[in-house]
Amino acid sequence: MNSYTVILFVALILGFYFSHRYAWWKKAVPYKHPRILMYHMIREPVHGAKFNSLRVSPKNFEKQIKYLFENGWQFFTMTELIKTRNTLPEKSVAVTFDDGYEDNYTNALPILKKYHAKATIYLVVDRHNREWSSKRKKKNNNNELMHEPKLQDEQVEKLIESGIIEIGSHTLTHDNLPTLTIEKKHEEIIDSRNLIKEKFNIECESFCYPFGLYDEVDLKMVEQAGYISATTVEKGIDDFSIANPYILKRITLSGKDNFYAFILKLKMGRRGIKK
Ligand SMILES: [Zn+2]
Repeated sequence: MNSYTVILFVALILGFYFSHRYAWWKKAVPYKHPRILMYHMIREPVHGAKFNSLRVSPKNFEKQIKYLFENGWQFFTMTELIKTRNTLPEKSVAVTFDDGYEDNYTNALPILKKYHAKATIYLVVDRHNREWSSKRKKKNNNNELMHEPKLQDEQVEKLIESGIIEIGSHTLTHDNLPTLTIEKKHEEIIDSRNLIKEKFNIECESFCYPFGLYDEVDLKMVEQAGYISATTVEKGIDDFSIANPYILKRITLSGKDNFYAFILKLKMGRRGIKK
C-alpha cells in the first residue's frame, strides 16, 4: 500500500466509527414532541469509579441548561408536562433527576435558577445508607452509590420552597419491582407516595421505576395509586398524542457525553445507534 491508500483507509475507518458513534445523518424527532432528560448526580467524576456515567459535572450541566435556555426550549415539571400535554409548545423539555442525591440541591438548583429552568426529582424515600445497585446486578455491590451523599429532608423542603422543583417518587427503597411480592410492591409504589405527601405536605403525582424495571402488575398499581405519569430508562422521545403516560421514554445524559453528544441526543433522543 502506498501512503495515499493508507490515509484513505484510515479516513474510511474513522468515517465509519464516527458515523456509528454519532449517527448525525438521522433526522430530528419533530420538536412538537417533548424531551424528558434523565440525570442522576451533578458533580465531578470520581477517579476510577464505576458509575461516572451518572455524574455530570456542574460545568457541563450548566452548559446544557444554558443551551436550552438560549435556544428557545421551555422547561416544565413532569406534572405540568402531562397536564398540558395537548397544548405544549414546540421545544418543551422536562429535566428529571433520579434517586435524590445531595448535589441536586447544592449544585443543580443554583444552575436551574440562573436559567429560569424547572426540574422533577424522583426521590427514594428511604435513601440513606442503602446499597441498591446490586438489586439489578449482583456484582454491582461495591457500595459506591451507597456512599454518595443523599438529600436531607430539610434540603428537599428547600427544593420545594424554590417553586421550580417537583418531587416525585422513585419508590421506598429502590428495589427491583418485578421481583417483589404484591405486599412489597404496595410498599414501594403506594406507601412511598403517601410518605412523600405526608412528610412534605405536597402532592406526589409522578413516578419513576427503579432501573426502569416494571411488570404488568407494577404498571397497574402505579396508575391506581394516583400517579399521573411514570418514566422508564428506555431511551428516546415519545409522541405524547399516543404515548402511554406510565411508560415514558427519556433521554439519558451521561457524564461521559461531550457537548456534541448532548445536542444529538436532544435532537434524536439518543446519540448514534444505541446510546
Ligand atoms: Zn434510580
